[in-house]
Amino acid sequence: MKMSKTLLREVLPSDRPTNEAEELRTLARKPSPSSKPGRLIVLVGPSGVGKGTLIKALRDRHGDLHLSISATTRKPRPGEVPGRDYFFLEREAFEGAIEREEFLEWAEYAGNYYGTPRQNVEEKIALGQVVLLEIELVGARAIEKSFPQAYRIFILPPSREELERRLRDRGTESEAAINKRLERARAELAASKEFDLQIVNDDLEAAIGRVERAIWG
Ligand code: ADP
Ligand code: 5GP
Repeated sequence: MKMSKTLLREVLPSDRPTNEAEELRTLARKPSPSSKPGRLIVLVGPSGVGKGTLIKALRDRHGDLHLSISATTRKPRPGEVPGRDYFFLEREAFEGAIEREEFLEWAEYAGNYYGTPRQNVEEKIALGQVVLLEIELVGARAIEKSFPQAYRIFILPPSREELERRLRDRGTESEAAINKRLERARAELAASKEFDLQIVNDDLEAAIGRVERAIWG
């Protein structure tokens, strides 16, 4: 779907006066002593490892968890809803938003752009909420620099074979797209130690419990 200009304005913060955006940014980094500090949690891991499955379970159990909706130039998969799963943008619109620094981070992945719209994340954190990002490695590295207080969790598969099986069984990608994702997975898995915590998604319930303890103690 081609994103309308109106929707683009809702997603991205270009309307906001610079000083107000700046103030929100400061608030997100330095919550006042009386307020409950919001937090940014980043979930990273190769495609097919089960991040979406884990996040769905977390959201079902924790209504106050805010999942940031990313923008992407990838085409929607069957069943994906614009504005719920992603904000689907044309490349030109995405590149304009990059130039205007409207993303907290962005990266190119398997031939498409993906990025986290900055405004919503900063507002929710300033309000004391836990905000979750589900992003790939390059973006997660950028977050370490732009938002060093973020807690970054790497989700690992029990084995490479199991990762490939999950990706194929999901049945959402072409053979070419699966191969691109498996190739990228090799580099991502090699970087898992860079993260604050590594969790193996073998038994789903056990993995959910570990992520919950990492976020809420
Ligand atoms: P990601 O969001 O990381 O790309 P998904 O959440 O879409 O991955 O999961 C990929 C596939 O693996 C899905 O078919 C999902 O049902 C399955 N899956 C997720 N977690 C587990 C698990 N612990 N054990 C077995 N299958 C799983
Ligand atoms: P998919 O096409 O399977 O939805 O996502 C492909 C990859 O892009 C996944 O690894 C996912 O975590 C990552 N991704 C999704 N949104 C973002 C984002 O906003 N920024 C970055 N850097 N990666 C993202």
